[in-house]
Amino acid sequence: MKSLSNVSLKDFNTFGVDVKAKQLISVTSEQELLRVLKDFYAEELFILGGGSNMLLTRDLDKTVLHINLTGIHILSETENEVLIEAGAGENWHQFVMWCVDRNFGGLENLSLIPGNVGTSPIQNIGAYGVELKDRFHSCEAIHIQTLEKKTFHLEDCEFGYRDSVFKGPLKDQYIITKVVFRLTKNHHSLITSYGAIKQELYSKGIKALGIREISDAVISIRQSKLPDPRKLGNSGSFFKNPIISEEKFKKLQKNYPDVPHYPLANGDFKVPGGWLIEKAGLKGFRKGDAGVHEKQALVLVNYGRASGQEILSLAKMIQKKVKEKFAITLQPEVNIF
Ligand SMILES: Cc1cc2nc3c(=O)[nH]c(=O)nc-3n(C[C@H](O)[C@H](O)[C@H](O)COP(=O)(O)OP(=O)(O)OC[C@H]3O[C@@H](n4cnc5c(N)ncnc54)[C@H](O)[C@@H]3O)c2cc1C
Repeated sequence: MKSLSNVSLKDFNTFGVDVKAKQLISVTSEQELLRVLKDFYAEELFILGGGSNMLLTRDLDKTVLHINLTGIHILSETENEVLIEAGAGENWHQFVMWCVDRNFGGLENLSLIPGNVGTSPIQNIGAYGVELKDRFHSCEAIHIQTLEKKTFHLEDCEFGYRDSVFKGPLKDQYIITKVVFRLTKNHHSLITSYGAIKQELYSKGIKALGIREISDAVISIRQSKLPDPRKLGNSGSFFKNPIISEEKFKKLQKNYPDVPHYPLANGDFKVPGGWLIEKAGLKGFRKGDAGVHEKQALVLVNYGRASGQEILSLAKMIQKKVKEKFAITLQPEVNIF
């Protein structure tokens, strides 16, 4: 167990925001985690994974508990399927690569998403036609106050678009320690329905398609579209893509016939938040070191020394402009502290 006092969190959040924490403890085993949970009240702790889905707006007068539990194991396998358990502190992309290298299929569309395995169920990470819930078997978690250990199965997690029970009724109550995935060993279901993937495979002249080719295509698309947090601080999509009723959508489409949209099974429509921000004239907007990314307006960036407060006021300004223009409220996807 490592412990540091009065520590800068600049290298622990992908926005690269320089705030301080009273203390940072990194735990590498469940025993260490339980020891810390016994020693602290829940309110004194701040749980940290890869720091890629948070905006820190102030110094934390708390102990940051860095979940660094590692290990990848095959739990069971049949001819076609494999159950794999990964520790919460495993880096997500490295875990996906571990699976791709062994021809275990299912997570390849989620290549290169930053963050850790343990955080993946919290907002049901998703990209290019796949969501975590599609490959999720279960996860193990420890209750922060009672220290009770609990296994959550798919039906317990209330997964939705960038949402789960861990963001809703059970918010801040459990620490996820392990996640189990159900993957395929052969007869992979290859998801290439997203136009960008098809285009990428076509432009590379790929004919024999497998999970490696899809993973490579996703990596290449992401590298061309999204800023690399190691070079330009960001937290991915800052806002969720708004979901609006059919009635509201029809009104919007009347005024903006070119509005991109995705009809949902329940009759609602998902509209790309980046398009709304761009149409509000804010793509590439910059104030000081806080800005809207030039290629993807849903991503807010830190050009160097922006504070969390500056990025937050930019986000609020965007929400206001989009609301004024389209009567749509953008909800943050990023956790704001
Ligand atoms: C460039 C970029 C691209 C991205 N693209 C995508 C994308 O395509 N799709 C997508 O869904 N997301 C995307 N994201 C967002 C982000 O990668 C995911 O949300 C990721 O799952 C966050 O993981 P993390 O470990 O970094 O979480 P953190 O930022 O460390 O934590 C997020 C929240 O979870 C809590 N938490 C952390 N670990 C645990 C734990 N073990 N148990 C309980 N609570 C915990 C924290 O307290 C915090 O509230 C992107 C981010 C970036 C920077």
